[in-house]
Amino acid sequence: MSDVHEVVIIGSGPAGLTASIYAARASLAPVLLEGEPSSTSDQPGGQLMLTTDVENYPGFPEGIMGPELMMRFREQATKFGTDVHTVKATRVDFTEQPFKVWTGDPEGEPDFVSKSVIVATGAQSLMLGLDGESRLLGHGVSTCATCDGFFFKDQDIAVVGGGDSAMEEATFLTKFAKSVTVIHRRDELRASQIMQDRAMANEKIKWQWNSTVTDIHGETKLEGITITDTNTGEESKMDFTGLFVAIGHRPNTDLFKGALDLHESAYLVTEPGTTITNVPGVFACGDVQDDYYRQAITAAGSGCMAAIDAERWLEAQHDA
Ligand code: NAP
Repeated sequence: MSDVHEVVIIGSGPAGLTASIYAARASLAPVLLEGEPSSTSDQPGGQLMLTTDVENYPGFPEGIMGPELMMRFREQATKFGTDVHTVKATRVDFTEQPFKVWTGDPEGEPDFVSKSVIVATGAQSLMLGLDGESRLLGHGVSTCATCDGFFFKDQDIAVVGGGDSAMEEATFLTKFAKSVTVIHRRDELRASQIMQDRAMANEKIKWQWNSTVTDIHGETKLEGITITDTNTGEESKMDFTGLFVAIGHRPNTDLFKGALDLHESAYLVTEPGTTITNVPGVFACGDVQDDYYRQAITAAGSGCMAAIDAERWLEAQHDA
């Protein structure tokens, strides 16, 4: 069996990387499983890799791009000795000590064994569930304005959603596009007032209220969409070359079903005010256990809490 580590951290968004910084500085020699590159937010660096300007992260009054912020987190984690592996966990066994984590064949020998585990696998973008959406992802359909906005210079494009993500994406995309139409299923936005105001003041943004996207057209590239009026049921076609889906998120907890307690919403259960899960020695932080604040700064804060909770738990085990 491999070496028994003090702590294995699964996930490398603000929560996982902050947990690594604190665990490394507490001499716990953390192992960080950062995930693998993919086209979704379930990848190294997490959701901020798909974000544009971050203007609300303290310490960056001029703002910073999400990917750059995550690069800096990672640099800080490795500087203090975090052992980073670019792999995805494929299976966990929390039934007995030491805990086991697989990153390859889930039927083979475990790849990592550890006295404690910090879960920081985050959340990912929700999709509309339409056929054309997966077919045309990367060919006109996107969940990432930062990654793809540049490809839509002087084009007419649309953003689906009425939350902060939709406002942020729409506003950012006006830097490139000729026009950005926000398609929202109600006549009232969910987004915070400041984000709404900014989007409303932007002359390049148009509004399509009480409408859902019910079809996506194009075989190899996006040619247009069908929207349906939620009041009348009337369908109409709209020509767009880009469609950005910004309708919320789902926690990355499939790996932990049966291993840890989950809420009905699939978010992990932690003891209020702590990162303690129902399994002693397993801690959870960041968006995987937070469906309320969901901010980079709160994820980072709870990553710090998880490292401290793990450190104190390990100390108590040694004392016992
Ligand atoms: P959200 O707040 O859950 O908003 C999702 C939006 O998508 C809602 O307007 C919702 O409509 C709509 N929607 C959901 N499912 C849909 C479907 N199947 N078809 C059409 N529309 C659908 O998600 P979010 O905007 O990703 O924000 C998540 C959290 O992150 C929030 O707490 C937000 O404040 C935060 N955030 C902050 C910033 C920032 O401050 N810079 C940026 C991004 C996100 P309804 O309104 O009708 O439910």
